[in-house]
Amino acid sequence: MMRVLRGLLVLALVSVWLTFGWVVGVLVLLGALLAYALRLRRTAELLEPTRRCGHCGFDAPTYGMFRCRGCGATTTGSVWFCALCGADYDYLPCPNCTVAIRAPRGGGR
Ligand SMILES: [Zn+2]
Ligand SMILES: [Zn+2]
Repeated sequence: MMRVLRGLLVLALVSVWLTFGWVVGVLVLLGALLAYALRLRRTAELLEPTRRCGHCGFDAPTYGMFRCRGCGATTTGSVWFCALCGADYDYLPCPNCTVAIRAPRGGGR
């Protein structure tokens, strides 16, 4: 009798899994898609040629010649990180009003 009950329980568990297992799969897939979309958005923000100052509305260029605040070298490229020493910057001083413009999601790469 116990064997039959256990068999029934396993059967019930399997059918529950078969019925709802795909929900877990879909959730995992959605999570992965969301993470991918967020990363894409962040990359797109990092690659934007300008970033608007929240204070004065000036479109500050995020590419060009910049002096690294870490190693002191002047390099050309993205303002969010140094090509030489790899330092990441959380902000860029607005060329117009010097108020800090936050980097996309608070960091370089
Ligand atoms: Zn500004
Ligand atoms: Zn540097």
